[in-house]
Amino acid sequence: MLSQELVDSLFPSELPAPGHWARRYPPRELPSGAEVTRFAPSPTGWLHIGGVFTASVDQDIAHHSGGVYLVRIEDTDQSRFDPEAASQFEAAFDYFGIGPDEGGETGGYGPYAQSERGQIYLTYVRELMRQGKAYPCFETKEQGEARVARQRATGALPGYYGEWAIWRDAAEEEVRERLAAGAPYVVRFRSPGAGGRRVSFTDEIRGEITQDDNRNDVVILKSSDQPLRLPTYHFAHAVDDHLMRVTLVIRGEEWLSSVPLHHQLFDALGFPRIPYAHVAPLMKQDGGSRRKLSKRRDPEASVGYYIEQGIPVEAVQYYLRGLANGRLAEMPLPEALATPLRLSEFGVAGPLLDLVKLDDICADFVSTLPGAEILDRVLPWADGYDPDLASVLRAERDLALRALAVEREGADNPRKDLRRWAEFRPVYGFFFPEIFEPVTDPADPRFGGLDPDMVRVIGSGFADGYKPLDPGPAWFEQVRELSARLGFAPSNKEYRKNPDAYPGSIADVSQVIRVLLTGSRRSPDLGQVCAAIGEPEVLRRARALS
Ligand code: GLU
Repeated sequence: MLSQELVDSLFPSELPAPGHWARRYPPRELPSGAEVTRFAPSPTGWLHIGGVFTASVDQDIAHHSGGVYLVRIEDTDQSRFDPEAASQFEAAFDYFGIGPDEGGETGGYGPYAQSERGQIYLTYVRELMRQGKAYPCFETKEQGEARVARQRATGALPGYYGEWAIWRDAAEEEVRERLAAGAPYVVRFRSPGAGGRRVSFTDEIRGEITQDDNRNDVVILKSSDQPLRLPTYHFAHAVDDHLMRVTLVIRGEEWLSSVPLHHQLFDALGFPRIPYAHVAPLMKQDGGSRRKLSKRRDPEASVGYYIEQGIPVEAVQYYLRGLANGRLAEMPLPEALATPLRLSEFGVAGPLLDLVKLDDICADFVSTLPGAEILDRVLPWADGYDPDLASVLRAERDLALRALAVEREGADNPRKDLRRWAEFRPVYGFFFPEIFEPVTDPADPRFGGLDPDMVRVIGSGFADGYKPLDPGPAWFEQVRELSARLGFAPSNKEYRKNPDAYPGSIADVSQVIRVLLTGSRRSPDLGQVCAAIGEPEVLRRARALS
C-alpha cells in the first residue's frame, strides 16, 4: 500500500475531506416513501427518445411519491461533447414537459454538471487511495493494447485483473520513479471481486438477478495528462447519486452488467447501495427482425424529429406510457397520463416503437381538440419551423378557425387528418389564399389528368351560377343543375349505362370543382370548404382558367 504522504502529494493540498461534502449535501428531508430520481444524459446531441422515456418515468415516480426529480448532465467525456446539446436539452425538456425539479441553477445539491464537480470526485479518489482501495496505474496505451492482444491470444478474459494488473501492487519506489519522470497515470479501483464468484441483487424491474462479480480494476479517474481530471462514469455515478441523495436509479439496460462493479464502488466508498431499475431499450422493427432504435439510423430515435415535426406531446407520452405499462394503453388518454407508472409492470424485453401506431394516436388526440387549441399549438411550432405559415395564421385567424371547424366541430366523426403540426400546411394550407396556388395545369397527373377545356367550362359555369348557400343538399343542388346544364349524366350509374351519350357524370363535375377549389382530388365537404373560404375566393379559384 502506498504511503499517505505519496497519495496526498498527488492531490491539491486544499482538497476538502469527505466530511465536508457529506455536510454540504446532507440527507434530504422528505416524507417517507418519497423517491429522489434522476435523469443523467450525456451532452452528445439531441436526446434519444428513449431518454425522454426514462426521464418521464423518473419524473412520474418522483412526483407521485412526493419526491424530487433531478437532471444531472454527464459531461465527463469531453471528446464527445456537442456544444449544441445544452440548448437541445432545454428544447426537449420544454417540449416534453420533463424539465427537472432540480438541475442547472436550481436546487441545493448542485452543481448538476459533472464537469463542475471535479473537486468532489478528487476527494473521494484520494480517500480510496489513502485506504489502499485505489492506485495509480502507469500502463501506457500501447501496453494496454499489447495486454489485450495477449489476453485474446491466450483465451483470457480482457480486463485489468489478476496477473495482468501489474500496477496493482507496485512498490512505492517504482511509483515515485514514474511520477518523477512525469509519466501520466490513471487511477484504478482495486476490485475486491474474485474470478468465478457470483453475486445477486434485486432489480426493481427485473427482480432477482445473479451475475458474475466484477474483478476488473476499472479506471475511476482519467489520465493525469488531461487538462481536466475527470472521473469515469462508474465512479461519478456512485459519488453523485450518493451525494445528491438519490433513492432510485432508473437507467438504460446497457448498465445492468455494471451493477456488480457499482456495488463494489458504493461499498468501498462507504455509501449505502441505491436500488436500480434497468429499463429495456425501445426497439424498431427492421424487416423480419427487431433491433434497438438508433439515433444514427432512425430519425424517430432523436427528439429533434418530434419537435421539428410538431408531434403532439400528449400523444407521445400516452404512447410511451402504454409501452411501459400495457394497462395504460387501454385507458383514455387523460386517465393514462394521470395514472402512476409501476416499475414492476415494465417489460424485460424492449417494446417496439411503431410510428404508424403513434400517428394513429396523434390523429385521435388532435381530433379531440377544439380548433382554437389546435391553432394555439400550430402557431408556436410554425414560428420555429414555418414562419410564413405563422404569419398567415396570425393574419387570418378567423379563416383558420373556420377551416379547422370543417367536418370537425359538431361532427359525430371528427376529421382525423391532422397528426402533427408539420402537416398543417399540406392538409389545411389550401384554405388560405396566401398559400393556395390556383390550378392552372389541370392536365397534371396529380389532378387526374383533366381536360383543360372541360375544366374551364365547368369552372366558369360554377362561378357564374354560384350561390353562397349553407352547406348541405341545397348547396349541392347547384352542382347538380350545372351538371345537367352541361349535359353530364346525373349519376355514375346512368353514365355507365350509356357512356357515349355524355361527356361524363356529375361525379366528374364535382371532382373538377373540387380540384379547382382545393387543388386536390381529395378534400373535405365542398359546401363547407366554400363557406369557410368565402364567396370572392370561391369565384377566384373557380375562374382560375377562364
Ligand atoms: N450518462 C449515462 C448515459 O448517458 C447515464 C446513465 C445513468 O443514467 O446512470 O447513458
